Amino acid sequence: MTTKYPLEAFKEIETPFYYYNVELLKATTSKVLEEAAKYPNFHVHYAIKANFNPRLLEIIKKEGLGADCVSGGEVRAALEAGIEPAKIVFAGVGKTDKEISFALDAGIFCFNIESEAEVEAIERLAAERGTVTRVAIRVNPNVGAHTHSNITTGRAENKFGINYEQLDEIIDLIESMEHIELIGLHFHIGSQILVMDDFIALCSRINELQELLKENRNMVLPHINVGGGLGIRYDAPDKYPIPDFELYFATYANSLNLYPGQQLHFELGRSIVAQCGTLITRATYIKHGTCKKFIIVDAGMNDLIRPALYDAYHRIENLTSNKEDDVYDIVGPVCESSDVFCKDRKIPITERGDILAIRSAGAYGEAMAFGYNCREIPKAVLSTDIKQ
Ligand SMILES: *Cc1c(COP(=O)(O)O)cnc(C)c1O
Repeated sequence: MTTKYPLEAFKEIETPFYYYNVELLKATTSKVLEEAAKYPNFHVHYAIKANFNPRLLEIIKKEGLGADCVSGGEVRAALEAGIEPAKIVFAGVGKTDKEISFALDAGIFCFNIESEAEVEAIERLAAERGTVTRVAIRVNPNVGAHTHSNITTGRAENKFGINYEQLDEIIDLIESMEHIELIGLHFHIGSQILVMDDFIALCSRINELQELLKENRNMVLPHINVGGGLGIRYDAPDKYPIPDFELYFATYANSLNLYPGQQLHFELGRSIVAQCGTLITRATYIKHGTCKKFIIVDAGMNDLIRPALYDAYHRIENLTSNKEDDVYDIVGPVCESSDVFCKDRKIPITERGDILAIRSAGAYGEAMAFGYNCREIPKAVLSTDIKQ
């Protein structure tokens, strides 16, 4: 399924804006659920931070996914989208009392806890309410991932999770608490991972850990949560519009040793929403420098920060030119030298007013937009908003 753009409609819409292909989003969510359903103990939560646009959340909720949240605001967004509290998990190293209280009152499924101090905070707040809540320990498996260093999260030097050496202590602490029940282990090694070996490495660490817990404590926890991180093909969005969820789930099914009855949870963000989103922008000026040609577009790093933040690659297409290729740097108008979408990119000769599509921008695009330079947050247009 390729994204065919309604170009005539785009010409009437003020740029920049995010365009979402609803058909592709639905096809992706139903595919992920269909593949997960091959394993009756697999559960998929959508990682809301990738894109919390309420209209997209509504679609994702209707398809039946749970939610993975990393702030109180995200728990609220999940609830407002109608996602059942019993399908909401809440991670994050810095949950405040206010956020914990909100999630306790909502009755979410599980807190993924990341420190002893957090355990104490949750115990105190749950005791005040006279309830017992469920927690999983976010374990730092010390596994590297083949991805950008700013988006690996599972190394000992990262701020996330509890290291293996400190696990016994935190389990003892949780077991001494009256208002907390330990139900699982949680892991998340990073994002934009396309090498299945990274997930296999995670599985062997989990297998080791499960054996240790069984041997040393006779402990088998009912829930294992392996986080998200499945990558997408930024280089070929039309060829690979939907990630290979079949291979992804099969990798876990083959490499992870689960005990009878254990439930396996996934938290997928990028792989669900990235390909359905495009940032649509116009060329404001073409500028000829001494050694470079620049296309200055009306979208900037404030609308899509991934290239500036992670050196990320996005395909960029000129939707209104079919001239021969030339080579340009495509840059935004923001007063920062890092406001560059790409350098030395081949793209058809572009003129002022041409409409450009920055592809694969549905994840960590709109969600990370900000108002620097008093710029407006880009609007979202869904394919279903446009009469085709
Ligand atoms: C960001 C995040 C995810 C989702 O990661 P993707 O790479 O978008 O799939 C899942 N779990 C946790 C804890 C996260 O922080």
